[in-house]
Amino acid sequence: MRLLAPVVRLAIAASLVLVSACASSVPGSSAAVEADGPRRMPLTRERQVAITPDEALRMLRAGNERFVAGSPAYRNEYLDLKATRDGAYPFAAVLTCTDARTSPERVFDQGIGDIVAVRVAGNVVDADVLGSLEYAVAFAGVKLIVVLGHDGCDAVRQACAGDGREDADGQLREALGAALARADSADIVQRSEPGFVSRVERENVYLSVRRVLARSPSIRERVRSGRVAVIGAMLDGGTGVVRFEP
Ligand SMILES: [Zn+2]
Repeated sequence: MRLLAPVVRLAIAASLVLVSACASSVPGSSAAVEADGPRRMPLTRERQVAITPDEALRMLRAGNERFVAGSPAYRNEYLDLKATRDGAYPFAAVLTCTDARTSPERVFDQGIGDIVAVRVAGNVVDADVLGSLEYAVAFAGVKLIVVLGHDGCDAVRQACAGDGREDADGQLREALGAALARADSADIVQRSEPGFVSRVERENVYLSVRRVLARSPSIRERVRSGRVAVIGAMLDGGTGVVRFEP
């Protein structure tokens, strides 16, 4: 018993620490703000208007650095959702793959109201995607469009393999056709190699950026006048690092 007593006292002390830790993490409580730094809030219209395309890019870079470092900004997303009920003022639109690992809000450490996410398998640009990007620029007011590809993209790999097993694959092959052509190899074995798939992933991002600019007069005009920028980027699934490729 003499040996157990200190253990029991330690267990009680640990429970008390646990209880006080839970109490301090109540959403929106001042204790949580003190523990995790100032709470990051959704952008206001005034702040959004003042952001330049260069600043929007810096904000995404800084967010990705926080993500990679494992030190995301402190937010209360429940309160942020309520705060943006009457409108949000996002600063960037991100076109990326539907892949479950490429959430743009996560990899750029952004909160509710910050990013317009447009997601489609293989991050290809079709009429629907273009319409969403135009809407993001003209009505949501974003200053930057990022086409975010990622390594290990199953959609691109399927298109490269070209086995025709699924209708969806066939549609993707068509959408990715130009990227395949730019990285083409007559050697069908080489097409299955990771290096080839990686090349197609990058060509696809490059072409998607070109397609946005070529097919949307409204976005092109805003880019010409410096109000908006369109840039490609690749997410490295191994490190979490996003590399921007203008
Ligand atoms: Zn993908």
